[in-house]
Amino acid sequence: MFDETFDVVVVGSGFAGLSAAIEARLAGCSVLVLEKMTLPGGNSALSGGLIAVAQSPLQDTEAIVDSPALLAADMLKAGHGLNHPELIRTVAEQSREAFLWSRDYLGVVYNDSLYHGGGHSVPRIYTPVNCSGAAIVQALLVKCLELAIPIRLQSALKRLILDDRGRVAGVSISSGYIFPQEASGTIRRIQALRGVVLASGGFAQDVGFRRVHHPGLDADLETTNHPGATAEAMVSALKIGATPVHLSWIQMGPWTSRDEKGWGVSTMFSVLVGLPHGIMIDASTGKRFVNELADRLSRAEEMVAAGRDPMLIVGEEAALLYPNLGQCLKRKAVLRYGSLEALASDQAIDLAALSATLQQYNQSIGDGKDQEFSKPLGLHKRYQILAPYILVRLRPKIHYCNGGLQINASAQVLDIEHHQPIPGLYAAGEVTGGVHGACRLGGTATSECLVFGRIAGMKAAGKKCFQPAQKVP
Ligand SMILES: Cc1cc2nc3c(=O)[nH]c(=O)nc-3n(C[C@H](O)[C@H](O)[C@H](O)COP(=O)(O)OP(=O)(O)OC[C@H]3O[C@@H](n4cnc5c(N)ncnc54)[C@H](O)[C@@H]3O)c2cc1C
Repeated sequence: MFDETFDVVVVGSGFAGLSAAIEARLAGCSVLVLEKMTLPGGNSALSGGLIAVAQSPLQDTEAIVDSPALLAADMLKAGHGLNHPELIRTVAEQSREAFLWSRDYLGVVYNDSLYHGGGHSVPRIYTPVNCSGAAIVQALLVKCLELAIPIRLQSALKRLILDDRGRVAGVSISSGYIFPQEASGTIRRIQALRGVVLASGGFAQDVGFRRVHHPGLDADLETTNHPGATAEAMVSALKIGATPVHLSWIQMGPWTSRDEKGWGVSTMFSVLVGLPHGIMIDASTGKRFVNELADRLSRAEEMVAAGRDPMLIVGEEAALLYPNLGQCLKRKAVLRYGSLEALASDQAIDLAALSATLQQYNQSIGDGKDQEFSKPLGLHKRYQILAPYILVRLRPKIHYCNGGLQINASAQVLDIEHHQPIPGLYAAGEVTGGVHGACRLGGTATSECLVFGRIAGMKAAGKKCFQPAQKVP
C-alpha cells in the first residue's frame, strides 16, 4: 500500500533532478521532487555554473572551431580512456541544445565571453552572469513553480520499492527528515507509476563511503561540497542490483584556497582569472611545476607531490577582470602585494628564484608560447605578471565524484548481473558514473546534468502518461 501516487518521482533537487522533473511534467506526467535538505539545490546551487558547450553561438561569433567530437576527445583524454563512449557522446552532442534550453527556455543569463578551461582544447565554457550555479538553479525552480511541480523538502529517500516483477514501483521516504539524523521523520511510501529518477548527487561528504573506495581520502581532508553530498540514495540502488562504476575516481579540485573553508569566495577567481592569466608556483622553490591549465587530475597530483607548497600569482591588471575580487581580498583568501619583495618576504619565497620565474613567464607571454609547460596562453589579450601582485595560497580539496551508477544513453540504470535496464529506474547527474572516467573537465558536469536530467525525465515519462489532475500550462 502506498500513501501517495505520482507518475514520476525524482530524488534530488539539483541541476539533474529539476531538469528531469520539468521534462517529465512537460510530457504530461504528475511529478514529485524529493529533497532531504531544508533548501533545494545541492551542489548545483553552490557551483560556479560553468557550462561546457561544443559549437556554441559565441564560438560561431568568435570563429572558434569546435565540435562535439573534439569535446568528446578532450573528455576521453582527461578521463584516461575510462569514459563510457556512448555517454560522453550523448553529453557532447547535446551540450549545445542543453545550453540553449537553459538560456532560451529557462531564461538563464550568461556572460558574453568564453572561458578556456583546463584540459579543453578551445575556449568553450560559458559562465552565468553572477558566476554562480545558483542562477541556473533559481531558473529551474521558477520553471518548476510555473509547472506546478511540488518540491518536498526534508524528504529523504530511504529505499526503492520493487513490485513482484522486479520493477521499481516507488520509494520509501522519511518525511520531516532532519539531516543528518538517521531516525528523524516519519516513513511514507510513494508510488511512481512510470519511474523513479535518482538525481541525488555525489558522495564527497560521505567520509565512510569515500574511504572504502579511496582510503587516502580520510576525514581530515576538506571538500567543496554541500553537507548532504552523501551516498545513501546511490546505495539504495546498489542494494537492488544496480552497477557501480568508477567509484574510486574521486576528484580533487586544484584551485581551492587553504585560507578559507570549502569552495569559499576565492575559487572562482582562481579558476576564471588566476590560473588562465597567472602562474602556479611551489613556494619552497619559487618555480612553476605544472601547466596551470592542464586537466584537474594532472594539476592536483603535481600540487600534492612531496614537499610542494602551491601558490598562485597573477598581476593585478588581469585580476581585476574578476568582478568579485574586492570580496576575495576583504576575506583575505586572496592577498595583494605592491612589490615582489613584499610578496616573497611575507610568504618566505626565495626572491631571486621567484623573480627569474616571473621573468621567464613574462617572456613567454611576449612570445605567445609557453616553452616550459605548454600552457595555452589565450587567443585574445594576454597579461604579463606585473606589480601589484595578487596571490592565493592553494590547497586541493575533494570536489567531485566521477563514479556512480552505471546508466545507458537513455539514463536507465543498468543491473549488475545482466547489464540490462532495471525497469522503472533512471538516474542522472553526479550520482551516475562513466561519463568522466578518471578525470572530469571543468564545465562538463553542468552540461551532463542538464543533458541526462532531461533525458531521464523524458524517458521516465514514456509516451503514455498518467493524466495529471492539473493541466500542464
Ligand atoms: C562548489 C562547487 C562548484 C562547482 N562548480 C562547477 C561548475 O562551475 N561547472 C560544472 O560543470 N560543475 C561544477 N561543479 C560540479 C557540479 O556542480 C555538480 O556535479 C552538479 O551540480 C551535481 O548536480 P546533481 O543534480 O547531480 O546533484 P546536486 O546538485 O548535488 O543535487 C542532489 C540533491 O539530492 C539531494 N539528496 C541526496 N540524497 C538524498 C536522499 N537520500 N533523499 C532526498 N534527496 C537527496 C541532495 O541533498 C541534493 O540537494 C561544482 C561542484 C561544487 C561542489
